[in-house]
Amino acid sequence: MTYGLNDVVIHRQMIEESASPGAQKRVERQKLESMLAYCESARCRRVILLDYFGEQATPCGNCDVCLEPPILWDGTVAAQKALSAALRTGQRFGAGHLIDILRGKNTEKVQQFGHQGLPTFGVGADIDERGWRSVFRQLLAAGLLDADASAYGALKLTDSARPILKGETRLQLRRQVERPKSRATRSSRVGTGNAASSGASRSSDSPLLASLREWRLAQAREQGVPAYVILHDRTLGEIAALLPASVSALLAVPGIGAAKAERYGDALLALVAARH
Ligand SMILES: [Zn+2]
Repeated sequence: MTYGLNDVVIHRQMIEESASPGAQKRVERQKLESMLAYCESARCRRVILLDYFGEQATPCGNCDVCLEPPILWDGTVAAQKALSAALRTGQRFGAGHLIDILRGKNTEKVQQFGHQGLPTFGVGADIDERGWRSVFRQLLAAGLLDADASAYGALKLTDSARPILKGETRLQLRRQVERPKSRATRSSRVGTGNAASSGASRSSDSPLLASLREWRLAQAREQGVPAYVILHDRTLGEIAALLPASVSALLAVPGIGAAKAERYGDALLALVAARH
């Protein structure tokens, strides 16, 4: 699942700076945190989603986690290094600078603060920058680090970080897997949605779009409603172009809200998984 560390910091900043009352902000923060945990989780997406709604489920076999189970590694030592880099620099810096310290990069900023003299300087050279970004994201998602919105996203340790630092708890992390770029290009039909269309497939459709249309037609017949009530043409086109591989990716498709994702998510993800 791709999102940047900066997205997390910016999103948190937006929440803190919004005019919403405190209670609302707390809810927003919790939502962001559960979203983060969702993104970084090594559990089946369906299991987590239903768990969130208080239901038990078996792994779906269709989501990105089920299809490509993440490789877990013992990230305890890496986490300790990352946390102590934040601690030893006064919890005043963001991930970028901390990663430079860990990787032993002699940047201007490192010189300026004399951080090349820290015991943590260069102790993380065995992990590349991408790998460290993934570690920091997971530390944020696990609530071991907190990005301080009032201090430009400076990373601060939370109380839960202590047992890790002391070596009392071990931490499993997901390995960042190199994924091939999506093969799909946006089809020219995307956006030419026509609410009056029958829902039948067209000869110019990609195989995936054709099977999405067939599925929608069957749904429409079963429910006795017009095809566009199930999903708009435009939404089908977006699914065919974006190839969502998880419920959260599906939720990012215009026209798919929580209700549609819950109702049709499994079927749509299965169609995407089967056709590309
Ligand atoms: Zn699954």
